[in-house]
Amino acid sequence: MLVGGERIAPTPGRVIDVTNPFDGRLLAQIADATTAQVSDAVGAAERAAPSWRALPGVERGRLLSRLADLIEARAEPLARLETSDNGKLLSETRVQAAFAARNYRFFAGYADKIYGHTIPLDSPSLFDYTTREPVGVAALITAWNSPMQLLANKLAPALAAGCTVVVKPSEVAPLTTLAMAGLVREAGFPPGVVNIVTGGAEAGAALTTDPRLGRISFTGSVRTGQAIAAAAARTLVPVTLELGGKSPNIVFDDADLDRAVVGALAGIFAAGGQTCIAGSRLLVQRSCYDRVVGELVRRAEDIVLGDPAAEGTQLGPLAGQAHLDRVLAMVDAGRASGATLRTGGTRPDEPALAQGCFLRPTVFSDVDPAAELAQEEIFGPVLSVLPFDTEDEAIALANGTEYGLASGIWTRDLARAHRVARELVAGTVWVNTYRTSAAQAPFGGVRRSGYGRERGLEAVDEYLRTKNVMIEL
Ligand code: NAD
Repeated sequence: MLVGGERIAPTPGRVIDVTNPFDGRLLAQIADATTAQVSDAVGAAERAAPSWRALPGVERGRLLSRLADLIEARAEPLARLETSDNGKLLSETRVQAAFAARNYRFFAGYADKIYGHTIPLDSPSLFDYTTREPVGVAALITAWNSPMQLLANKLAPALAAGCTVVVKPSEVAPLTTLAMAGLVREAGFPPGVVNIVTGGAEAGAALTTDPRLGRISFTGSVRTGQAIAAAAARTLVPVTLELGGKSPNIVFDDADLDRAVVGALAGIFAAGGQTCIAGSRLLVQRSCYDRVVGELVRRAEDIVLGDPAAEGTQLGPLAGQAHLDRVLAMVDAGRASGATLRTGGTRPDEPALAQGCFLRPTVFSDVDPAAELAQEEIFGPVLSVLPFDTEDEAIALANGTEYGLASGIWTRDLARAHRVARELVAGTVWVNTYRTSAAQAPFGGVRRSGYGRERGLEAVDEYLRTKNVMIEL
């Protein structure tokens, strides 16, 4: 771990095994931080805060740029490390390493552009202005599915804003975040500005109940998000929550159907469906329903499963056995709900894949909108297809879950694209694309998908508070 610029070794007896989900190999043993160690990390961040916030923005930006350079220079080993850690395809982790570097660079350029404004009041004898100040120490807690990218979403704007941080990655895939400890030191960040602790729920709870925090930014499940929001209700520390989704991808019959099918496949099967933005509900206009479902199934059956680090692999393993068991149970419940299983639903037969937590790409059609298959996040390669007739029906189905993270619209009708985009209850709407992300574009959810925004200029606001200064002249 990294606390106050020092490397902290695990306490004997408090270690967590980290394994490769492709072959079950032990990769590392990480520290399961004690409550005292987490508290030390918050203390280190608190001590580093005054001088960090006093550093001119241009200097904070320079350090962030250096971090971006270092990530770019080490992109390949970082991508390989993350692939071994969470089983994500190397082609995907390479993109995510580049995305992370882009994010640090974007916020590097914003660190010296954070300022308030003057406000004309009713009386000419009063002069009023605002300043925007860093909130202090931010706790940054991430999930296992995209550690480098999720960390960049939080760490880059927090540091640009002038906050110091305590990072806690998921115990399931912590290795690239731990590798960042070396890069942070090499980039020249002062000790205590970035602290990294590891562990699971106990360490996470110790961190999120600490009253010295100025912000908690969390990416993970709804259940943990609720626990953190409840804990933060006692300390009144503000929280950013990036939670799950059940995102709809809507295909109208006027769309370029080939592109829509490719987009729908990438939307659900990229990263084995283990992304918060997975397009796990495909809503297809009835007039092109059979054609789209037929094509989807044909292409899903051609997807190449294998070693995520091998070139040519299109679908890797799920992140662990417990997770696979949970996904298989949801597939069974889907079958029992009366939906038609068109393909997949079982583990592959190939002996070479026996050690990995694989599930064949799975497509259910004619899914009841009220069934668990259409309502609950599965976080696996399982697509639920539902038919609709009219635009209004598509919107009602799309908005008919408790989530509101992402959504997709496939159409050639520009007016329809804008009309439907306006009505969708979601933080992101993609039109004729899906899963495309940009450092500049704000991202976040509504309803059970959470609140607050990451990326884009909005992200820095999460780490700032406004102070008003009023002067009698
Ligand atoms: P999780 O909630 O189990 O764990 C997330 C993090 O919280 C981990 O670091 C974990 O150690 C920590 N944690 C666990 N219990 C805690 C507690 N009581 N207090 C504080 N921290 C605690 O989630 P996961 O299984 O790692 O990730 C999968 C979930 O993350 C999915 O629901 C997915 O949709 C969501 N996700 C959301 C986004 C987004 O940006 N909206 C991105 C990726 C993943």
